[in-house]
Amino acid sequence: MPSHLPTALLTSLEGLPGFNRQTFEQVHAAAGKITSLRLNPNKIKTTVQEEKVLTALSATGTSKVPWSSQGYYLPERPSFTFDPYFHAGAYYVQEASSMFLEYAVRHSVDLNSSLKVLDLCAAPGGKSTLLQSLLNEESVLVSNEVIKSRAALLADNLTKWGAANTIVSNNDPRDFSALPGYFDLIVVDAPCSGSGLFRRDPELIPEWSLDNVELCSQRQQRILADVLPALKEDGVLIYSTCSFSAAEDEVILNWLADHFELENVQLPWHEEWNIVLTETSKRNFQGYRFYPDRLKGEGLFLACLRKRSAEKAFKEPKQKQKQLQLSSKQTSLLSPWINKPAAYEYFLHQEDVLVLSPVVAEILPVLQQALYIRKAGVKAGQLGAKELIPDHQLAMSLLISEQVPVVTLPKMPALQYLRKEDPGIITDVKGWGLVAYEGMNLGWAKFLPNRINNYYPKELRILKEITGI
Ligand code: SAM
Repeated sequence: MPSHLPTALLTSLEGLPGFNRQTFEQVHAAAGKITSLRLNPNKIKTTVQEEKVLTALSATGTSKVPWSSQGYYLPERPSFTFDPYFHAGAYYVQEASSMFLEYAVRHSVDLNSSLKVLDLCAAPGGKSTLLQSLLNEESVLVSNEVIKSRAALLADNLTKWGAANTIVSNNDPRDFSALPGYFDLIVVDAPCSGSGLFRRDPELIPEWSLDNVELCSQRQQRILADVLPALKEDGVLIYSTCSFSAAEDEVILNWLADHFELENVQLPWHEEWNIVLTETSKRNFQGYRFYPDRLKGEGLFLACLRKRSAEKAFKEPKQKQKQLQLSSKQTSLLSPWINKPAAYEYFLHQEDVLVLSPVVAEILPVLQQALYIRKAGVKAGQLGAKELIPDHQLAMSLLISEQVPVVTLPKMPALQYLRKEDPGIITDVKGWGLVAYEGMNLGWAKFLPNRINNYYPKELRILKEITGI
């Protein structure tokens, strides 16, 4: 069966480890669709909850993604838009091969230690939400995206994910040179020519060319050269693309071998996963190739390397910049909203109060000197003279106090709420309250004697008419 893949692509892949032109073309021609998602362990804490979410998505059953602890395949693609769990951040819809990042991280860094992690090319946030799930509370994830509009989407997805130990920045890779030897782990999920996604998104095929592969390869080298100084000695670099082309994969590993003191990190091998191991000519760096004709996932290349050269260590400023202290009046307005308020630090930015985990509070002043920070920790809301106007970030976070009233809605009114309509709720709650679905918060509403004000963010609301529920 012809696959409509460019002949130049197929010819260029001949001879690469694991490439089988016939089965590769067949699987692209069949154009099968695979749907997978990763549950959010911040929000799904019991197997009962897990089953509820998965059953709501698929009555006929799900199966596990073999290399992931939270990843599941769905037999068909449901309407995520009309699933309130999706809007509550119960899961992230992620391509299955990409979830291999978890395996690489678990086998290359000590997740019990306190880590500074950078996800350099992070939007829309698939790898970042995965990384956040793996980190402990003393660790911090800096999620960076160079394109401003995409950084906004990344921030929204991390808001939905709910954790307080993340920072979103909007910088060019070269800006990280101001932070030499700073990070324990850097993930570079590089912009690439995208051939690994051609089965899922065939509309990308006409944009592919050998010239673009070469351009991407040059850009990947530039990005890596810019960011590598920010990695600590003994720190880990994970490099990935969704391209099958050697110029963006093995050639990049050879280029890294030529220019930097790095060594290969070997991951334990699982024959039954059908991933293809590729070994480069220089210093035997290894890469992991994912082919859609061999396993249940799209195309991915990933390599894991450890830095062996000493980096002039980053000098922490002698005097730590002090966070602005809240007045006792401000503290009394804020405290009822936060679970264990003493566990956090607070930062007042104009009228907005940010709630920061101690580790974020510690590194934020340092990062602010080098980077444009788009989001840090959790925005609790706007502090006025008489009350806190709570922010959507607080509703989606894990730090909200149990004292805050919650109004739970069935599915249809929940979707109406998410469309920013009046869900027609009858409740005793007065004033500010959380609107929830099956125990998961969706957003804020203000309950007035004869109406409710729906505070779901306008830019996030469901635009589609509700049908087929
Ligand atoms: N890691 C993301 C995820 O899992 O959701 C996907 C990242 S995507 C493969 C690559 C990202 O790199 C895009 O968001 C793109 O905007 C960004 N990018 C494009 N040009 C870049 C550059 N010159 N430097 C750094 N990032 C760039």
